[in-house]
Amino acid sequence: MADEDMRELLYKVLVVGDSGVGKTSLIKRYVHGVASDKYKATIGVDFALKVLQVNENTTVRLQLWDIAGQERFGSMTRVYYKEAVGAFVVFDVTRLDTFKAVKTWKEDIDAKVFLPDGSKIPVVLMANKCDLAVEGFRTQEEMQEYCANMGFVSWFETSAKLNKNIEEAVNCLVQNILEKE
Ligand code: GDP
Ligand code: MG
Repeated sequence: MADEDMRELLYKVLVVGDSGVGKTSLIKRYVHGVASDKYKATIGVDFALKVLQVNENTTVRLQLWDIAGQERFGSMTRVYYKEAVGAFVVFDVTRLDTFKAVKTWKEDIDAKVFLPDGSKIPVVLMANKCDLAVEGFRTQEEMQEYCANMGFVSWFETSAKLNKNIEEAVNCLVQNILEKE
């Protein structure tokens, strides 16, 4: 195959959600294959890189932007959102307040970042810590309806602890980003 047929895409992807929901743990698990056991709320922005070979002629360099410390303000600055092409909103299935905050996070993204054609960036919802059983949260149907209403492309029950569904969620988001190329 000729070199000019090869594509290498750089995608900036945001990971937002309330403090303590597992954003850093999910990123570490996905990128480094380890679970972070310590709670570390540093101040600042950090990003991790993962290279994905999505097909024989397309490589995606995925930049996952973590936030730390600023979550407590419930929104981020435009600088942080600048040029992002996708996002994850994370909540903790054991803390209802973090689920309520999902709406705020989604609206903040929708108000501050757009694709070059002016459309919204694809956003995937992560219901994290699914290893901690919760009775009576939401049914699959309720979550599906919630996502449709809120404009999420999809949602996944994830666990950074058990490494569950993280890759699936990332692949889903990347597919949605690719479709908009
Ligand atoms: P962040 O503030 O959103 O970055 O959250 P952290 O990644 O720092 O995680 C907060 C706490 O939740 C830490 O003690 C993690 O070990 C724990 N944690 C994160 N993900 C999971 C998970 O999937 N299951 C369980 N049981 N604990 C988790
Ligand atoms: Mg963190």
